[in-house]
Amino acid sequence: MEVLILTRSDKHKADDGGYCVAGINLQNNQWIRLVGPHYHFKIADAEAIYEDGTLCEPFDVVEVDAEKIDSQKRIECNAHGWGNGFTEQYPENLLSIQPENYIVRDKFKLVRKASIDEVMHLGIVSDDEYIYKDDTTSLSIEDAIECNKSLVMVKVEDLELYPKEKYDEDGYQAHYRARFKYKGHQYDGLSVTDPDYDAAKTDFQGLKFGETYLIMSVGEEYRERHYKIIAKIFETVYTIENNTYGFFHAFSDCKYLEKYKDSVIYALWDDMVADGMGQCKECEKNYLS
Ligand SMILES: [Zn+2]
Repeated sequence: MEVLILTRSDKHKADDGGYCVAGINLQNNQWIRLVGPHYHFKIADAEAIYEDGTLCEPFDVVEVDAEKIDSQKRIECNAHGWGNGFTEQYPENLLSIQPENYIVRDKFKLVRKASIDEVMHLGIVSDDEYIYKDDTTSLSIEDAIECNKSLVMVKVEDLELYPKEKYDEDGYQAHYRARFKYKGHQYDGLSVTDPDYDAAKTDFQGLKFGETYLIMSVGEEYRERHYKIIAKIFETVYTIENNTYGFFHAFSDCKYLEKYKDSVIYALWDDMVADGMGQCKECEKNYLS
């Protein structure tokens, strides 16, 4: 199957690698999480590194040999192993909590690169009233089972990342935390596992964003809770096809975009800035500083 990867965040990272890889199955536009026959069912370098030695990234479209983990597959593989000599037991309630999981049988093969514009046209942005049932940071096991999904893309407002206090002596820095608004509901204290915002490698005290889309995942059980995790942050901006103006718009409702409705394309903030572009004056006024 072909999968458009939207997140490759850290999961039990060790010498053999360790990632949570998820995205969209392009055959049916459904969410899919790829899991591997390794410790805690993580994806390891064995799957995620291509023949040419590079590591898979968001927006890669990959060809994957994978099988859905359904009730029968779980029973069969728990009894006889998941391949690769791997015999960890897959909990029954994960069938309901992470129904998107597919077990990967081989290395990913890169097919092509997709763009944020293609992603935004897949129609995958959630319209649910809440992000996983309520406005809290975690679900009870019962609620996670009832939720029956663990991958979603949402548009949020006023996203702000802030560092969590360092653990004493060793200076270990936990993941950044995030607060934002979604459909008028305030969320706070969510953990960010997007490797582009790795608290151990960056030193900012706080970051605020304009229009932002998040890939949110429901994690494995931790102290009888399932935490809502921000696995990927897309700071999306807008340009007009054949952007001769040389600037982008941070907000989709910018009045300068209105008359170009049919030719508006999505882009990533970082890409535009790297290309030497700045945002339009009108958007600049609205932007959080
Ligand atoms: Zn603008």
